[in-house]
Order: sequence, then structure tokens, then C-alpha cells
Amino acid sequence: MQSELSIVWIYPDLLSTYGDQGNVLVLEQRARARGVPARIHYVRSSDPVPQQGDIYLIGGGEDRPQILGAERLRKDGGLQLAIARGAALLAVCAGYQIMGSVFGGEEGQPVPGLELLDISSRRGEQRAVGELAAEVDPVLRLPTLTGFENHMGVTQLGPGVRALSRTIVGTGNGDGTEGCVAGKIIGTYLHGPALARNPALADLLLSWAIGPLPPVNDEWYQRLRDERLAAVLGEQA
Ligand code: GLN
Repeated sequence: MQSELSIVWIYPDLLSTYGDQGNVLVLEQRARARGVPARIHYVRSSDPVPQQGDIYLIGGGEDRPQILGAERLRKDGGLQLAIARGAALLAVCAGYQIMGSVFGGEEGQPVPGLELLDISSRRGEQRAVGELAAEVDPVLRLPTLTGFENHMGVTQLGPGVRALSRTIVGTGNGDGTEGCVAGKIIGTYLHGPALARNPALADLLLSWAIGPLPPVNDEWYQRLRDERLAAVLGEQA
């Protein structure tokens, strides 16, 4: 295992709605629990994105900050180089849409993305708001994911990605799937923050960056998971 993990949180000043920044803390805490200290780089949108990070995270945001964030990331090029180098990425909601070829702006206008994921998003008819539960692609061997969503965007997956999960409750991508995976990139509409509600997802990212992980005491995470899962599935019944 490596001696230090570098976590890069992209644009806390633009893209960090619904506590998505908690994802950074969960990764740091779960790396430290495995004896790997983590250094967190908070990269504001006025600063260049460092290329040497191990795991990059980007969160959700309103339409205008999302458009600005996409423009700056496209010009900067640091994230694209880091991904080409083999870094891992968790992109949530607005951040997820930005990783595709295009997404819908505040008037539905097409805005170009970074093309790191073979997805395209557009503004849908209805806002998707509420709890989400989704069953994960069996290849990834993760338990049911939960979180909440709040977005207008609808996302279409291309052949270059596979769906992260199938929705049990909620909207996700809008076609019965939720999020996607390609290489070491995970895109998702899950807020919660996603990694606090789904520690297995945090460990998947960590294992991509630092190799096989010993188990940790997950009692509190598990309690939150069980509570939310019961609440979400209860709402459905
Ligand atoms: N602005 C995007 C949408 O509405 C993303 C919203 C979000 O990140 N919560 O689809």
C-alpha cells in the first residue's frame, strides 16, 4: 500500500451542494483507518487542478456554477491529464453531467462537457427530487446504494460506460439506471453524501487508488445505511 493518499476536491466554491464535500472526509477517514494518511487539496475554480492526485472528487451545483465549472475545467485540462494518468474520480450530479460530452444549461441550451465519460445529458421535463435506492451492477459486488437526488438533467449512457446501478426508488439517469462507471471513474446522481451513505463505494474508490483494503469497523455507517434503506424502501411500500 502507498504511504500517502492525495485527494483532490474540485471547485468547493462552485460545486458542493447538499454536503457533497462530506465525500472527501469519508475517503480521508477510511484511508486513515487503513493506516494511509490522506492529504486533501481544495482546488478553487480560480486555481489550476493539480495533475498528481490519486482520487478526484467533484460535487453537485446549480446550473450557472455548473456551466462556469465546466468551462474552467475544460480550459484548465488538469483533470483530463490526471484521468489519462490513471487517477480515480467520483463525480456527483452536476459534476457527473460535466464529465460527459454535453449537458443542458439553465435554458436547456447544450453546454459542452469534458468527454471523460461516454454520456450526454439534457434538461428533462420534470425535476427529479427525493430519495433514491439502486441495485448495483453485480460485477462491482456492492450492496444496494441509497442517497437522494435533486436534478433536472436526464442522462443517456453511451456504449463506452456501463450503468452503476438500476433504480429501485427514484429517477437517476431517467431510464431505470443510475450513474455509470468507466475505468476508474464513477458518476452518480446520489447525494447524501454518497460515500457516507454507501461506504462500500468509498472503499471501491480507495481500492482503485491504494490496492486491497483490510476491513474496518463500519457500525455507524451500517446503522445509517440500514436506517436510510428502511426509510426509502418503506416509502415505496
Ligand atoms: N444543475 C443540474 C441539474 O439540475 C445539476 C443539479 C445538481 O447538481 N443537484 O440537473
